[in-house]
Amino acid sequence: MKRSLLFSVALLCGLFLLSGWGFLVHRTVNQLAVYQLPKDLRQFFYANKEYIVRNSVRPDERRNSDKTEAPKHFIDAEPYGDSSLWKMPYHWEAAVAKYTKDSLEKYGYVPYVVMNMKVKLTNAMRAGNKDSILFYAADLGHYIADAHVPLHTTENYDGQLSNQRGLHSLWESTVPELELTNYNLYQRHRARYLKNPEESIWNACRGGFQLLDGVLNLEKEVSKNFTDSTKYRYQMRNGRQSRSYTSAFARAYGKALGTTVNDRLLASARLISDFWYTCWVDAGKPKLNANAPALKTAERKKELRSEVKAFKQNELLKQDLLMARKQQGGREE
Ligand SMILES: [Zn+2]
Repeated sequence: MKRSLLFSVALLCGLFLLSGWGFLVHRTVNQLAVYQLPKDLRQFFYANKEYIVRNSVRPDERRNSDKTEAPKHFIDAEPYGDSSLWKMPYHWEAAVAKYTKDSLEKYGYVPYVVMNMKVKLTNAMRAGNKDSILFYAADLGHYIADAHVPLHTTENYDGQLSNQRGLHSLWESTVPELELTNYNLYQRHRARYLKNPEESIWNACRGGFQLLDGVLNLEKEVSKNFTDSTKYRYQMRNGRQSRSYTSAFARAYGKALGTTVNDRLLASARLISDFWYTCWVDAGKPKLNANAPALKTAERKKELRSEVKAFKQNELLKQDLLMARKQQGGREE
């Protein structure tokens, strides 16, 4: 399978390529989603924030050992036909009947994975099983975030069909890593109940797909101001030459993209909190706080309050409260 093969190569090179949002953004959006939950639910997620943030990248790590994992992270619109993201059935069984399971496993099926995870998280909440709740909440957050990435909706997922190879990690990793300090990480959003979650996750994919032309065209536009040697960096890794975009190019490309990456990051966090909340409501709003003893102390409650305040002032980074940056300390390599 094309991506699993590429992924192995990427691993050999010590780089996480084609993995969905880079680790930085996955961790960031899972953390931001916690603040957007209503109080009751927020306390439980906050008490387990470290787990939720750390394991936001677990589905990507699973790709190393599980061959069935890769197509869960994307959906290539083109092989499914014209305007497929607007026409595909919302339910897995109907999709299998229409396209076959083999095709779905070949061209990706992230929206169906999200709906499957939603059922699992709802069941875990209904059963009050803390470990399962956290496990599925972290996974669900990952797949929802991936569904927002434009290059996760196309066969030309790395720009390889338009002579722009390397575009995948440029857009989803390098640019946000360079620009995160300039991003707005706050948004006025309170998790809301999704009456039609299928529609919501498909809209996320559609939104990403509609951005594709810009993602591809702007790379060409910005390239006009660069030469091969200012645009690319060549390195020898394990006896092979690898090519990646220079930081100067990534900055110029990030600037040309405007708020696109920041917007998709915020949209990911919004929908993650909406899905977590919807699962909780569907599970009958169980009391989960009994599972979060850490928050019973006044100190932890105070900590949560000041963190939410920092979030609202867009000062998570400034106050060193963004876990992704603390854990990572720079580029993901
Ligand atoms: Zn992924």
